Amino acid sequence: MPVRTVNKRKLRAQLMLREAVLEGRLIRQPCAICGSTTNVHGHHENYSKPLEVQWLCAHHHAKMHNLRMQKEGRIKRVVWLSV
Ligand SMILES: [Zn+2]
Ligand SMILES: [Zn+2]
Repeated sequence: MPVRTVNKRKLRAQLMLREAVLEGRLIRQPCAICGSTTNVHGHHENYSKPLEVQWLCAHHHAKMHNLRMQKEGRIKRVVWLSV
């Protein structure tokens, strides 16, 4: 899939998620890994399902993306930040 298409989907998914949270259709949850309630992001596993997200704090969200990039071979090794 061309990168441009992916970015468009991502943008749309993030927008729809933000709207759903603002309208109270979706409740922001604590981080699924550490339970933190500050700086929680909705992480999309699949951008074609904008309202299916995993709630992760900024720290674990970054980790999740490192892991994914490693799987895709974009980076050689995961850099685990200290918790
Ligand atoms: Zn966390
Ligand atoms: Zn994410």
